Amino acid sequence: MSVTRRELLAGGVLAGLFGGRVAAEPTGTEWRNWSGTLSCMPKGRFRPASERELMNFVASTRGPIRPVGAGHSFSPLVPTDGHIVVIDQLAGLIRHDAERMEATFGAGTRLSDLGAPLEAIGQAMYNMPDIDRQTFAGAVATATHGTGLSLGCISDYVSGMRLVTPTGDVLNLSADEDPDVFQAARVNLGALGVVTEITTRNREVYRLKAVTEVRPLEEAIADFDTNAARYRHYEMFPIPYSTYTLTLAIEETEEATSYPEGAGDDEATFLSLVEMLMAGPAFVRGPVIDMLFGETPPSTVVDVSYKALTNVRNSRFNEMEYSVPVERGHECLVEVLDTIKAQGIDVIFPLEYRWVKGDDTWLGMSSGHEGHAAISVHQIASHDYRPLFDAVEPIFWKYDGRPHWGKLHSLGAGELRALYPHFDDFNAVRARLDPDGRMLNPHLRTVFGVTT
Ligand SMILES: Cc1cc2nc3c(=O)[nH]c(=O)nc-3n(C[C@H](O)[C@H](O)[C@H](O)COP(=O)(O)OP(=O)(O)OC[C@H]3O[C@@H](n4cnc5c(N)ncnc54)[C@H](O)[C@@H]3O)c2cc1C
Repeated sequence: MSVTRRELLAGGVLAGLFGGRVAAEPTGTEWRNWSGTLSCMPKGRFRPASERELMNFVASTRGPIRPVGAGHSFSPLVPTDGHIVVIDQLAGLIRHDAERMEATFGAGTRLSDLGAPLEAIGQAMYNMPDIDRQTFAGAVATATHGTGLSLGCISDYVSGMRLVTPTGDVLNLSADEDPDVFQAARVNLGALGVVTEITTRNREVYRLKAVTEVRPLEEAIADFDTNAARYRHYEMFPIPYSTYTLTLAIEETEEATSYPEGAGDDEATFLSLVEMLMAGPAFVRGPVIDMLFGETPPSTVVDVSYKALTNVRNSRFNEMEYSVPVERGHECLVEVLDTIKAQGIDVIFPLEYRWVKGDDTWLGMSSGHEGHAAISVHQIASHDYRPLFDAVEPIFWKYDGRPHWGKLHSLGAGELRALYPHFDDFNAVRARLDPDGRMLNPHLRTVFGVTT
């Protein structure tokens, strides 16, 4: 079977590998996350049409509240038996400042709805994550990031926010106004209240050229540092059991928009292959995958930044991601791949390996360091993720890894406090704004060590 260039780039092959089936979103009042693994039966859902309506709701009700974005987190940040607050009506461009290159959006805006309005006012986000279905508030809450050693996570660019607190008050936050709460809110896990507006620093509109290649893994690791320094964005998708990896190199260009020829139409064939490989013994996977990938030609896309940076991932999976200090990244990645192979773990889903610039947020995964290497492992949603995640999580701990807040992990307050110098500062702001613990659910109680 051959792999078309377009499929490779547009994610057909990755989507195939990122494959699996999931039950349709159930109707009724049940809430489910994107992967379909998390669910809850909230007491009610509230969809405010305005910030004022939200303030009234919070002030006039009692009991737990969990804000929800697009439900794309894998960690149980949202599930509650209290109220879920959905702010999809608080969306769109609110105002901008051409001189400061800043723009303010409703916090419920999907990332996919930021690019075009920004382009119309001559602005663009510095970076984007792998997909753009998340809400702005959800992405900021978990320090969602893309790749690029000179580029921070989305929270790094936030310069202002409006927050409806758990008592129903509203705060205007920036480095000058309420700086402690602002610092905490830049990566907030939805634990401080409900964010209604977000202001970010942007740059002028730019175009990108993205080249995807299949390369021998050893070679790609050996020149990763050089490429990470050379390109604006550089990342790898190492394939378990294979001696190959996909690499993605992206740089600025003035070239016209172009996509590879040929529509990707054999994802179904690829999915069958994935299922066959998953059903067969682990030792045949490496050679079969190598045969499939080895001859795949490079593929190039050119487009405006927000389109070139993001992908569509239709096939459902669960994910664990840890960020380790950048200088230990390769070693940790190799240990994860070797462990998967040595233990014969049932996975053929590619890993993702990205470098992210350090920042000065309190709870960002790259905070307080020059940069971090983010290593993600994925398991298709129809398979039990525990054998894979249980095997690799202790490896991440050895490398002082910090878990992505939106992805699965098993750490509690004790371990997290040791990883984040500002952990107690955040917790103090959280306890001050939310003395009754309205914003907590069982997962956040574990994360913040709240037992009452
Ligand atoms: C296919 C896929 C690809 C992904 N790619 C990347 C990637 O490239 N890089 C990366 O870093 N992550 C990635 N993620 C993870 C994802 O970006 C984060 O989990 C993100 O938080 C999801 O945003 P959401 O809008 O779905 O929020 P949800 O998952 O619904 O919520 C996340 C958090 O935000 C809080 N929240 C939501 N709205 C508000 C609000 N108005 N006020 C306060 N808190 C709020 C919630 O309470 C919760 O704590 C990916 C996830 C998926 C499923």
